Amino acid sequence: MYDFSPSQEHGSVRALVRAFVDREIMPNIRAWDEAHHFETGILHKLADLGMMGVCIPEAYGGAGMDYNTLAIVCEELERGDTAFRTAVSVHTGLNSMTMLQWGSEAQKQKFLVPQAKGEKIGAFGLTEPDAGSDVAGMNSMAVFKGDHYVLSGSKIWISLSDVADHFLVFAYTDRNLRHKGISAFVVERGMPGFSTRPIHGKLGIRAGNTGELIFDDVRVPVENRIGEEGEGFKIAMSALDNGRFTVAAGACGTIMACLEASLAYCEQRETFGKKIGEHQLVQQMIAKMAANLEISRLLVAKVGWLKNRGVRNTRETSLAKWVSCDAAFEAASDAIQVHGAYGYSSEYPVERYLRNAKAPVIYEGTREIHTIMQAEYALGYRQDAALRAMLPAWPFAHSEGEA
Ligand SMILES: Cc1cc2nc3c(=O)[nH]c(=O)nc-3n(C[C@H](O)[C@H](O)[C@H](O)COP(=O)(O)OP(=O)(O)OC[C@H]3O[C@@H](n4cnc5c(N)ncnc54)[C@H](O)[C@@H]3O)c2cc1C
Repeated sequence: MYDFSPSQEHGSVRALVRAFVDREIMPNIRAWDEAHHFETGILHKLADLGMMGVCIPEAYGGAGMDYNTLAIVCEELERGDTAFRTAVSVHTGLNSMTMLQWGSEAQKQKFLVPQAKGEKIGAFGLTEPDAGSDVAGMNSMAVFKGDHYVLSGSKIWISLSDVADHFLVFAYTDRNLRHKGISAFVVERGMPGFSTRPIHGKLGIRAGNTGELIFDDVRVPVENRIGEEGEGFKIAMSALDNGRFTVAAGACGTIMACLEASLAYCEQRETFGKKIGEHQLVQQMIAKMAANLEISRLLVAKVGWLKNRGVRNTRETSLAKWVSCDAAFEAASDAIQVHGAYGYSSEYPVERYLRNAKAPVIYEGTREIHTIMQAEYALGYRQDAALRAMLPAWPFAHSEGEA
């Protein structure tokens, strides 16, 4: 049975993050965006609020709240700017939740606990210069040397590349096995041979940090391999089930921001002797935003519900991510249209929303990849087998973390 009523905790977290965004992000975001400045202090402040590990069990340093609470945090953060939601997506969604799902107890203690508390920041490195959608096209190699691996290669377009402390990365341990020859590792900042470099000149998410990871024969201890050798592809895909959930939730925040800005402008602008909100063609754009906000939120809520129940949700997550990100991009374009020429200027935030809304249509599975996935599910070409490790259902068992 679905329950559409937000819990008291959901309402409190939404109010908390909304107030935080209004106070800490809104007054500064235009300047940060123009300066291409990532304000790391925001992550520290989110950590103080317990928001960097909101759905990680308390036993592992998190707030122990349900998965829908993470969606609320992401929605409210992206209402402020995509950069900070992206940070939570990679830190919590792609990295910490993967550690929770696949990490050994020792790895959880070493990596997850400080991440959930926000003392250390996590990132996720899958994409390479020659391999984005086609993950098996990666070139990074990890050669086994007894008690460690020697990692060589590079990653590109990695969010928080210059900020993070722990990098969950993927490399071949046996190239001949294709997908089944990829393994997952944690690379720690400071390991000799590991360096990062920022990417400049992005269209959007300019208040975010994106860059390259370079592995120049990095010695990675065996204890830093997540899962078994050859499980890396499955781990990466299950990480995306969590990351995409947060991206979809964030897209709801973009739609909400577009709607709020458009409603305000409809009140203030008059043409042909009436407020523009009274013109039916403007109303059409407003109606579409309102409808897509509701549709996207419902899709996200369903994924949160499945995650809470410990049920695999690859299909539903892909659908939510695809639909909501496309809707956010459309909402941002329409929000500019509602604002006319003023929307085309940085005097109003809607041009930033459009620039920001493009990346989520590309990252964590492009629009085309999700279209293909949905067609394959519908046609019966794709089914999801059970995974060796599942994300724990919520409420978390008391034994979670006592091992
Ligand atoms: C701001 C930003 C932040 C990012 N952060 C991260 C991060 O933290 N970690 C990380 O690992 N990556 C990150 N990425 C990378 C992102 O995940 C990739 O860009 C994405 O997976 C697409 O890969 P690609 O850019 O190589 O495009 P390609 O895979 O080369 O695709 C190019 C085009 O071809 C289309 N295409 C490809 N294959 C098919 C097919 N089979 N059928 C139809 N069309 C197809 C694509 O949809 C796309 O339109 C980030 C990207 C951006 C822009």
